[in-house]
Amino acid sequence: MASVQHVVVIGCDGLGSVGFTPSNAPVLHKLMREGAWTLHARGVMPTVSSPNWASMIMGAGPEQHGVTSNDWQPDKFEIPPVAVGSGGMFPTIFGVLRQQRPKAKIACVHDWDGFGRLLETTALDVLENVKGSPAPARRAIEVIRQNKPTFLFVHFDDVDHAGHTYGWKSPEFFAAVEQIDALIGDLLAALSEAGIRNHTIVIMTADHGGKGKGHGDATMEEIEIPWVLNGPGIATGHEIKAPVNTYDLAPTIAWIFGLRPPSCWIGKPVLEAFNAIVLDRQTRAGGIQCQDSPRKFKRIIMAEKASNTIALSRNRGDTLVISGPSEFGFGLCAAVRSVFYWSCSCKALGLLCPLTKPPSPSRRPN
Ligand SMILES: [Zn+2]
Repeated sequence: MASVQHVVVIGCDGLGSVGFTPSNAPVLHKLMREGAWTLHARGVMPTVSSPNWASMIMGAGPEQHGVTSNDWQPDKFEIPPVAVGSGGMFPTIFGVLRQQRPKAKIACVHDWDGFGRLLETTALDVLENVKGSPAPARRAIEVIRQNKPTFLFVHFDDVDHAGHTYGWKSPEFFAAVEQIDALIGDLLAALSEAGIRNHTIVIMTADHGGKGKGHGDATMEEIEIPWVLNGPGIATGHEIKAPVNTYDLAPTIAWIFGLRPPSCWIGKPVLEAFNAIVLDRQTRAGGIQCQDSPRKFKRIIMAEKASNTIALSRNRGDTLVISGPSEFGFGLCAAVRSVFYWSCSCKALGLLCPLTKPPSPSRRPN
């Protein structure tokens, strides 16, 4: 299995879960069928853009980062952030990636001009406000071709515009969803043409949905958002059952890249979306080779438990459940390496050993 070298997040303003029907977005539905997904992820209150985009990239809610409304500005806010990172603001995934992977190529192309104020602008190689489809998609495609970015965030605004003008779930709204779906198809094609699709995890999500011609209130139509993940290491055709919150996005991306999350983040990586990425990460670390045998576990699930020990159990023969304390998700490389190494000699567990040679504990994915 190819290793993950790139993450592309496609953020569709206003494309809450109300925008998904079986037929109106063929590209997104194909990503779902071949990936992991939920239509029951949640945004934060209030269901407006700035608090939700901020929560998504900041790994925390408005109570922590202080972006409580669209009126928020870096120098104008109601409550200050609980923490300030090296970028001089509440740390986002952009700043955390730059700090821990200085050579990463980081890019963001956003249609809504307000998005750019929510992140550490100096952390990015490319940060551009490109207005009106298909221009943002065209620019993002250029960035994919020219930069092969480690992390690319693309923000589309058209669905939100259609919702405000014609109403959510109106024919015009669904037409806008179809248009964005086609542009997402163009982005995927560009990843393939650039030769990086097999090394790229694509994540599609939204800031909020809508009801009538607006959003901002506490209704399921406004707060439920999609999460669609597709790429190497992502489970296929799997509907994520665990609760997912928008502020889990930054920790999930950090986990993919093996980054240490700032202590002020409250989100958790959505590990249920992943298949054998843990083994793959070990391969990248050079310590473990996975055998692609038919008896390999089809799924590896990380489950939380209260005690400080890590336990293994098999589920229906093809699923390995590794349970441990919640913090261990971020130390998973080391933990799973030792777990698998240990399980080799522990025949009582009846586990298939994925090791062909002992791990080298000093190396980590970079
Ligand atoms: Zn919005």
